[in-house]
Amino acid sequence: MFMKLSAWVKPTKIKVPHHKNTLNSETVPMPVPNKVRIAMQQHIGAPCIPIVKEGDDVKVGQVIADSEAFVSAPIHSSVSGKIEKVLPSEIIIAADGKQMMDPSIAPPVIENDQDFVQAIKKSGLVGLGGAGFPTYIKLNFSEQDKGKIDTLLINAAECEPYITSDAREILESSYDVLDGIAAFSKHLKVKQAIIGIEDKNPTVIAQLEDILKKENERFKNISIKILPSQYPQGAEKILIESCTNRILPLGKLPSDIGIVVANVTTVATFARYLQTGIPLVARRVTVDGSAVSQPQNVLVPIGTSVKDIIEFCGGYKEEPVKILQGGPMMGTTIPTDEVTTAKRTNAILAFGKKEARQHEESDCIRCARCVDVCPMNLMPVSIDQSVRWNEMENLKTLDLAACIECGLCSFACPSNRHLVQHIRSGKAMLRDLAAKK
Ligand code: SF4
Ligand code: SF4
Repeated sequence: MFMKLSAWVKPTKIKVPHHKNTLNSETVPMPVPNKVRIAMQQHIGAPCIPIVKEGDDVKVGQVIADSEAFVSAPIHSSVSGKIEKVLPSEIIIAADGKQMMDPSIAPPVIENDQDFVQAIKKSGLVGLGGAGFPTYIKLNFSEQDKGKIDTLLINAAECEPYITSDAREILESSYDVLDGIAAFSKHLKVKQAIIGIEDKNPTVIAQLEDILKKENERFKNISIKILPSQYPQGAEKILIESCTNRILPLGKLPSDIGIVVANVTTVATFARYLQTGIPLVARRVTVDGSAVSQPQNVLVPIGTSVKDIIEFCGGYKEEPVKILQGGPMMGTTIPTDEVTTAKRTNAILAFGKKEARQHEESDCIRCARCVDVCPMNLMPVSIDQSVRWNEMENLKTLDLAACIECGLCSFACPSNRHLVQHIRSGKAMLRDLAAKK
């Protein structure tokens, strides 16, 4: 019988190295690739359905897929060119290199709250910190519910190793960040907006502080909360606690405790949409890892292949053993560099043999390091064991829903146990069990 623990956040005892090698790399726009492959599943929720057909001419910013589902966001063409193939899972576009804009593109006219929410939806915006949740849903409250929200919390922690795309957003587009926060704050009618940022980025913090001091009247409700650089500081639950001292109970949303959380690049992207009307068709991606010749930040049209991006970054300097979309702790390993970028791709990391840490799993030595480092007070070793042995009754007692999939347990394990993988499997097993009832 396993002990059931409640899921309160605790400070973790393990240091994850930052590796922010590209922090000083100014973002370079990538030349338009010959072809983009735009996936229909760009976000959490329902996939979009293509609304174009093979042979159609398209322009940048033209809607090419949409969905009537509540949790969804339209998808726009990131290039001008011709539709080459339409599949249920993706649309392939041969780019003409001219990047002609769709003539319907114009800054949105916003006269009321519904206009604001519709503008966010039309922009195609999803959480750009990697979560990929359609943004308009987060801001779609009744007037009564809005009255219960007092804080907009901006996630600028970027605690995952290697990734610097949010930090570059702040450095290169500080006013877009602050204008986006002001727009979200005005819509939500919040008393305060807090930017949560780790202390590893003093230059970024100094730049924001400087503007907030100079533009005191314009951005008067915005403050900065400097946080210790400690992975997984940017996890929503942990960020909320660090910045507001409020506890997000299991199964509740931030809005249940008066908070809306948005990623820093998400708000800045919306500010640009307000100015230009150009929807989300490109994004900044950190390209790094020991197998990449020239690590840097690149502005990439959505749907560009990882291969094209790496080639732009000087190609591989050694055989890549592991390629990730996202960071090494929470990102997804991709099987081939033919995979294309999505709206939520904030990083591409390619590692050679040494760094890929693809060590063989060995037997658990019952050292309890995984338990010790878990910020959610879970028992990864017990979850792992219950999943492997299909012990459903035990699994139900282990609070899997509280796991934020931060990867610290796997990182700390001396036996290289695939703990997070098994925790994800365990969550799926419990979902299947619930669906059968
Ligand atoms: S991934 Fe591991 S360390 Fe992170 S919350 Fe889940 S069980 Fe805990
Ligand atoms: S850290 Fe690894 S070896 Fe140690 S108890 Fe957890 S699963 Fe077992």
